[in-house]
Amino acid sequence: MKKAEINARAEETKYYGEFGGQYVPDAIKPALNEIATCYQEVKHDTRFRDELAGFLKDYAGRETPLYYAEGLTKYLGGAKIYFKREDLNHLGAHKINNALGQILLAKRMGKKQIIAETGAGQHGVATAAAATKLGLDCKIYMGQLDTERQKLNVFRMRLMGAEVAAVGGPNGILEDAIHAAFADLAENYQDTYYLVGSAVGPYPYPEMVRDFQSVISKEARRQFLDKEGRLPDAVIACVGGGSNAIGAFDNFIDDSSVRLIGAEAAGKGIDTPQNAATLTLGTVGVNDGMKSYVLQDQNGQPLPVYTISAGLDYPGVGPEHSLLKDIKRAEYYAITDDEAVNAFQLTSKLEGIIPALESSHAIAEAIKVAPQMGKDQLLMVNVSGRGDKDVRQVADYLGEEI
Ligand SMILES: *Cc1c(COP(=O)(O)O)cnc(C)c1O
Repeated sequence: MKKAEINARAEETKYYGEFGGQYVPDAIKPALNEIATCYQEVKHDTRFRDELAGFLKDYAGRETPLYYAEGLTKYLGGAKIYFKREDLNHLGAHKINNALGQILLAKRMGKKQIIAETGAGQHGVATAAAATKLGLDCKIYMGQLDTERQKLNVFRMRLMGAEVAAVGGPNGILEDAIHAAFADLAENYQDTYYLVGSAVGPYPYPEMVRDFQSVISKEARRQFLDKEGRLPDAVIACVGGGSNAIGAFDNFIDDSSVRLIGAEAAGKGIDTPQNAATLTLGTVGVNDGMKSYVLQDQNGQPLPVYTISAGLDYPGVGPEHSLLKDIKRAEYYAITDDEAVNAFQLTSKLEGIIPALESSHAIAEAIKVAPQMGKDQLLMVNVSGRGDKDVRQVADYLGEEI
């Protein structure tokens, strides 16, 4: 299936193959349809695109480099490895690309307040920054337990003027925050915009978030043609909800010579219950407003998931990935905590770059794939974020006292 066909069908039916849709209470559908209509209008509007490009350049720091990872390449002895350096964006990850895009849309729609939900806090921080930058009020829903586990990110959000609402009682987690955000949207959508942080949720979010993150592959495609005179042979990205991966894949979907590879979290192993390997082990179901692969129990309830990497700790996945898996356009493999931590250490040592634990899953997959490829082949790894946030956790994992 070509990209244009996937997109045309999604715009018409709200589905990617059998995946996607709008599995939400009726009260929320008018809000979603208003967003979808406005988005279809602005997405081809030159003024909107120029304004977004301006913020991506001067505020987020794009374009991000395509960097030849010579140390890792020589060490592995196979394909020539390039890192797409999303870790060099403002706030240290790709999330700002999407936050800026949706907040500019919200402004166009005349909304006054941004709401979002966050688990580990990274998306909340990116949303708080972009909202205050563009002069909108911002309220971040967070499970109460998560606010205690992520005090530093709560403080960051408050510094940037956001209100952080702790929900769900003492055991409150991301699911509680998502419910609170949807309830707020249903009641207040006249002046409130719900900013979703990954390529998940009811239509049109998977499409919008993909489009805002597709700047990654748009730049990378041009950068490969400039540097190497040809496209990469494979692109690898980590998959939580799937936004950095779909953004890294998007402009290569029609190039059948480019292998597209997603790395999800195997946690302590896919033969244990402690993993987040949705596309490897999940079954088709409905959660968070969409139909997609999901790790679920007999009753369709999402299972508790585990991974060392907070950003990959999600039982679902974006619907377009489920389609790409089923039509065999993309491949998905699971990486354990041990493999990710090894990649984290190796990249720090060989490249002087400390990657996020999420991104370390993609690098760990590259460590497996690159040696099987020829020296004349090109491999891109999307380094979705920087690992400064993760050093304490890795030290604990390795049993080192700091
Ligand atoms: C949030 C996050 C992810 C996972 O989210 P996706 O939507 O799957 O991209 C990956 N890497 C980093 C650095 C993140 O902050």
